[in-house]
Amino acid sequence: MSIDLGAIVANWRLLCERAAPAECAAVVKADAYGLGVAEVARALAAAGCGTFFVATVDEAVALRALLGAEPSIVVLHGVSTRAEADELRRLDVLPVLNSLAQVALWNELAKTGGAPLPCVLHIDTGMNRLGLSSVEVQKVGLDRRLVAGCDVRLVMSHLACAEDSANKMNRRQLVTFLQRCAALPSAPQSLANSAGVFLGDGYRFELVRPGIALYGANPVPSGVNPMGEVVHLQGRILQVRRVDANETVGYGAAFSVTVPTRIATVAAGYADGYLRSASGRGMAMVGGVRVPIVGRVSMDLITLDVGAVPEADAQAGAPVSLIGGGVSLDEVATHAGTIPYEILTSLGARYRREYRG
Ligand SMILES: *Cc1c(COP(=O)(O)O)cnc(C)c1O
Repeated sequence: MSIDLGAIVANWRLLCERAAPAECAAVVKADAYGLGVAEVARALAAAGCGTFFVATVDEAVALRALLGAEPSIVVLHGVSTRAEADELRRLDVLPVLNSLAQVALWNELAKTGGAPLPCVLHIDTGMNRLGLSSVEVQKVGLDRRLVAGCDVRLVMSHLACAEDSANKMNRRQLVTFLQRCAALPSAPQSLANSAGVFLGDGYRFELVRPGIALYGANPVPSGVNPMGEVVHLQGRILQVRRVDANETVGYGAAFSVTVPTRIATVAAGYADGYLRSASGRGMAMVGGVRVPIVGRVSMDLITLDVGAVPEADAQAGAPVSLIGGGVSLDEVATHAGTIPYEILTSLGARYRREYRG
């Protein structure tokens, strides 16, 4: 598997341009969506990215060790215990405070130092997962002492339907965000994920938080993908065999051959994160020809109908593109009945990751 760090940096720069004058952060949670946070975050920091978002305290600890003291690091899950709060403070990492309970933990820590501590406030605007509820926001509006220990560096919320630019939910969340922010201490604001960057000026505020677009997925699924390809996952053909009509291929005899053809068996399967749900639906590239996956994806093997590929190009040892190189990440996700996020975060440890750029 090759991962093009140059393309990640170019994608970040494109998002910076689209978001300007807002700052463009980078979301590198879950090991940079499975691509390797050490390489990805270092490349982005070297390119000038100054703010990184991770999900967990452990991810923040690892990232601080990787990047040194300079960049801002923000933990989306916030703090759940005093020990976590101490750890974040020690590493100068900002928690996203997601409830008044989390705010209270941060206040307590701030009391020991006698000064408010930097943090991010998350307010819910309709996602109903994390963030201060409308009631909690009202409480803060009526009594600022509730956030006395918070040096609020950013107020953020998260969009539920940003990939669907026509969805009314987007504007509803934007309006709710503006209303609820008015009750809070004034601070820079952030609402947009990758797709949110493309919803228009009103959604960008002071900082945008793209993740998936950095890694090459299309943030505007209704149009042409503006992002460069990052991941190229290649497999190798182990064997090619001629199969007659009326024969079947693979587990469950799920594919029946109607016209005699050649079947190529490729060394990749669901144990590598090539999802089984792509059985009989996925596509691959062999010798510049698009070919279908036939039969079931099994643990370590995939079978392709290479009847349309010249024999010289479809032999044992020949390379096969499974993601990238003519099969887009978005297309792979669609064929597997999922989203690019799940494809990337499923990519297994058995693939050797080679970094380019
Ligand atoms: C994961 C995440 C993002 C990044 O979303 P993408 O759709 O990958 O751009 C931004 N904000 C929050 C709160 C997130 O959890």
